[in-house]
Amino acid sequence: MGALRWHFLLQCLEDLQKNLCQLGSCLLVIQGEYESVLRDHVQKWNITQVTLDAEVEPFYKEMEANIRHLGEELGFEVLSVVSHSLYDTKRILDLNGGTPPLTYKRFLHILSLLGDPEVPVRTLTAEDFRSCRPPDPGLAERCRVPLAADLKILPESTSPWRGGETEGLQRLEQHLTDQGWVASFTKPRTIPNSLLPSTTGLSPYFSLGCLSVRTFFYRLSNIYAQAKHHSLPPVSLQGQLLWREFFYTVASATPNFTKMAGNPICLQIGWYEDAERLHKWKTAQTGFPWIDAIMTQLRLEGWIHHLARHAVACFLTRGDLWISWEEGMKVFEELLLDADYSINAGNWMWLSASAFFHQYTRIFCPVRFGKRTDPEGQYIRKYLPVLKNFPSKYIYEPWTASDEEQAQAGCIIGRDYPFPMVNHKEASDRNLQLMKQVREE
Ligand code: FAD
Repeated sequence: MGALRWHFLLQCLEDLQKNLCQLGSCLLVIQGEYESVLRDHVQKWNITQVTLDAEVEPFYKEMEANIRHLGEELGFEVLSVVSHSLYDTKRILDLNGGTPPLTYKRFLHILSLLGDPEVPVRTLTAEDFRSCRPPDPGLAERCRVPLAADLKILPESTSPWRGGETEGLQRLEQHLTDQGWVASFTKPRTIPNSLLPSTTGLSPYFSLGCLSVRTFFYRLSNIYAQAKHHSLPPVSLQGQLLWREFFYTVASATPNFTKMAGNPICLQIGWYEDAERLHKWKTAQTGFPWIDAIMTQLRLEGWIHHLARHAVACFLTRGDLWISWEEGMKVFEELLLDADYSINAGNWMWLSASAFFHQYTRIFCPVRFGKRTDPEGQYIRKYLPVLKNFPSKYIYEPWTASDEEQAQAGCIIGRDYPFPMVNHKEASDRNLQLMKQVREE
């Protein structure tokens, strides 16, 4: 987990602490390994119930099992609640004969048998916290939300994202006031290189539990009910939430979901191992401005648009570099604010045509893709200021400018900004053949 996400998480906890305070309660943050923390506190604080989010990730499944054992030993009750996802994935698996549905269409069919998800938990009030008296001020001070410096996290960067339920709710309300936008939302038509997010930008808030997906789902249902027409899954906003559920469901029942080896749904591919090329991709030195601008936004801000994720994921894997999706997933895991075990791995498998998606002949061009929605290259100028003085006709391929034009733009390719690391046409043709071969085998 990178520094940006740490800062975001600490902001979330501070916001939670503030909101609980307003309700007459407070948040105690205890640092340490969960088992010893529980052992130390159960008797001391007379803990009778431990409540946790039911999760699909193996680490948390194991944690829940361990906590249950501990509960039997130490005498506390464990309440595990499905709240990070809309549905209990076990119910979906049961209806599909115990296996995960591997297409979105099949998944929607199963959901139609289940009906709407549970309604969201109501908003808590001070009344709910009547019996949760704030502990003595000394304890509250000892168990305060840690500062980034306490955890030796690098100082705050300039990310425009701020963590917390308050911010998440504000963002939600902002989007929902434009009901026409909500009703007509069509994901492929949103713009990957707009200077402000063209989608909701709610993923970091869902990811860290600041915002309830059910609240979002039902607010959308209310807007759809009032609209004459509205878009539908897979492209609608509710459809996006269902993609999330889809990946949670498949991940919950697939061993080694974040790996190629031992993963029964993943195509086994002999990807190249090339640390130098991987490093260039990760550090925005591919020489393709569209790719490098996206990787810069990811590093500086921790969020990039879905189609921008498509562009860089395809480039790293089946498009240009033929490097394993696992490597890309790890970089995203470190840098994304919304990094998520199931969604990240699922989408990387998708983009690399290792699972779910099989139209592998469709390879994104690192020059033409971004041009369609931002012909002037404003996005590139923002994130790669070294290129900002190039005329628009060169901004996506500055190496084609003459020496004089480069000098005029104040940026010599090969000195101030790299030449493209591959010839896209040759690399993508070769990779296409490789992919055909793998599939035939
Ligand atoms: P919106 O379009 O406004 O959608 C609303 C919500 O729906 C999102 O917040 C998200 O929770 C969910 N959603 C949208 N698209 C998807 C999708 N394709 N799959 C699953 N859920 C979706 N998303 C993550 O939350 N965490 C990740 O680690 C992650 N890794 C990704 C890796 C790759 C290679 C790709 C191509 C996509 C990845 N995504 C991931 C999915 C998607 O890009 C983001 O969820 C989305 O861009 C977040 O922006 P938003 O909140 O504005 O989305």
